[in-house]
Amino acid sequence: MNRLAVILVDGLRADTARRCMGYLLALEEAGRARWATLTCELPSLSRPLYATVIGGRRPVDHGILSNDHVGVHLDDTLFDDVAARGGRSAVAAYDWFWELLAGERFAPARHRTAACASRGVVAGSWYFEDEYPDSHLLADAEDLRTRHAPDLLFVHPMGLDNAGHVHGGGSSAYDLAARKLDMNLALLLPHWLADGYDIVVTSDHGMSADRMHGGGAIEERAVPFVWLPSRGDATQAPTHWPANQLEIRRFLVERMAAPR
Ligand SMILES: [Zn+2]
Repeated sequence: MNRLAVILVDGLRADTARRCMGYLLALEEAGRARWATLTCELPSLSRPLYATVIGGRRPVDHGILSNDHVGVHLDDTLFDDVAARGGRSAVAAYDWFWELLAGERFAPARHRTAACASRGVVAGSWYFEDEYPDSHLLADAEDLRTRHAPDLLFVHPMGLDNAGHVHGGGSSAYDLAARKLDMNLALLLPHWLADGYDIVVTSDHGMSADRMHGGGAIEERAVPFVWLPSRGDATQAPTHWPANQLEIRRFLVERMAAPR
């Protein structure tokens, strides 16, 4: 099984990524990354789209239609695909991911570093404040990666979404959050690629200038999808290149199984 790292940046607009994330753009310019813009499913909200990205179904089909829809257990996800093939996952993410995978409310004192063995998640680091810095979250992820060498490393930074809700998706503070995340990725990702991890950077939804998302405007729906293969040429699209968020899960599973 090929190693894979998924970086699901919460609330990252496609246009902001293209304007501000120079490290990722440098990889594209060198033929080592492939960029696309995807239109997120609706409603363009976090919890429904977390479930969509890892499960491959529309919110109106999986039934998680609101951020307040707590306690639903997703029983068929990317993590289950990895576990079914004998792989191990590690997750550094917001507590809502814990709730989707474990099917129970997150309790900080009990679950902060809990594994979720039934889903093949051998190690986890879960945060529960929207202000949790991306730099700390990435350190959590790197700690999990170096200690557990997971087949799938799932990483979910909140800094863009938080900056967007406070300052707006058209603000300089929002742009700065993207620039800082890109600089932090530039420190980490070369090591991940060298260790054989293929990497995807994408987002659940975008962000409007009026500090919210949930609707159908392009700035709320257009998200980046960036593919960084650890080896070889990124200028040719791999088979089953995803045309939308529903196809991401299948694409990732196929990449993990593909011959190199
Ligand atoms: Zn949000």
